[in-house]
Amino acid sequence: MQKMTSFQPTTLVAGGAGFIGSHLCETLLQRGHRVICVDSFLTGRRENVLPLTNHPAFTLIEADVTEPLVLPGQVDEIYNLACAASPPQYQADPMHTMMTNVLGTGHLLELARVKGARFLQASTSEVYGDPETHPQTEDYWGNVNCTGPRACYDEGKRAAETMCFDHVRAGQGDARVARIFNTYGPQMRPDDGRIVSNLICQALQDKPMTIYGDGTQTRSFCYVSDLVEGLIALMQVPVAPEGAVNLGNPGEFSILELVEIIRELVPGTARPVFSPLPTDDPRRRQPDITRAGELLRWQPRIPLHEGLRRTIPWFAAHLASLPPIPAD
Ligand code: NAD
Ligand code: UDP
Repeated sequence: MQKMTSFQPTTLVAGGAGFIGSHLCETLLQRGHRVICVDSFLTGRRENVLPLTNHPAFTLIEADVTEPLVLPGQVDEIYNLACAASPPQYQADPMHTMMTNVLGTGHLLELARVKGARFLQASTSEVYGDPETHPQTEDYWGNVNCTGPRACYDEGKRAAETMCFDHVRAGQGDARVARIFNTYGPQMRPDDGRIVSNLICQALQDKPMTIYGDGTQTRSFCYVSDLVEGLIALMQVPVAPEGAVNLGNPGEFSILELVEIIRELVPGTARPVFSPLPTDDPRRRQPDITRAGELLRWQPRIPLHEGLRRTIPWFAAHLASLPPIPAD
């Protein structure tokens, strides 16, 4: 744990009750920040931040970032994580997803301008779409279908990136953009719908493990504490990098390989079941993290097997108290 200094930065985390946001809030509090968590609880859960609510430096504000945000007092840093990240969740109300990314980022950038705060945007590997270059470097412009069902998220995040760099070009302040690759860990919702939470919950419940397509598509999975270290390192670097920075674990696995690892870690009777690949589902994804290494001296430490070993007991402990997930 980092030693507390006399300066106690005030850090706003939009989307702070979500999966990544709640880990970020907790780590920032441990490092002596005052933390203001702003969340609409669209996909985030009060339970994620309940242990933090007794901390004297923690404030929770229920608000939707599509509305302007006015806050009294000083704010030194703003992390914008507000946006549903799971495909079924962000496609449930695509217009709101787009507005969260565009209006929400606009409102938070305006707040950063007024407060003179550093700004960090949680962007995504989805800005690369179904990538034609592999692994993905930050200078790749992407292959996104702007009319498909994923576009509300992909194009929303691309627009948010544009707004961040226009904010910088217009001399309004500082902005840092993290392109986050698939991240997993405790405090994901069991009913979130993403691959890691689905497979773990299905394995723990001896339900069929849902594979979309033939399972040969790949993703690169980053454990949440590694990602949080990367986000904080990007916020702390004295001069904002020009352009976005990939944050993720370069270990690339097919969905079939992921299923096998989880079946090894959760012995039981669960068997894979195949259903059609969703529209525009990217075939491959792997971050090139050279830039993060050079600029932030950051690299992930926790391999997939170890991260899953840490994640499974959390789901095992929480499944009983949460609503059951559908089998497909
Ligand atoms: P999550 O769904 O658990 O968290 C998102 C949080 O934002 C939730 O607490 C939700 O209630 C809140 N939110 C959504 N819309 C809002 C709005 N309009 N106003 C206020 N709050 C709102 O997802 P996550 O995995 O923790 O992702 C956090 C951020 O990181 C997202 O911006 C996501 O796009 C980005 N990201 C995540 C991943 C990943 O693999 N987890 C990958 C790439 C990018
Ligand atoms: N996927 C799957 N079964 C599931 C959920 C997802 O096979 O129960 C696939 C999905 O089609 C995609 C990959 O796993 O190819 C990762 O999906 P996820 O929703 O976790 O993230 P994203 O597609 O946004 O990277």
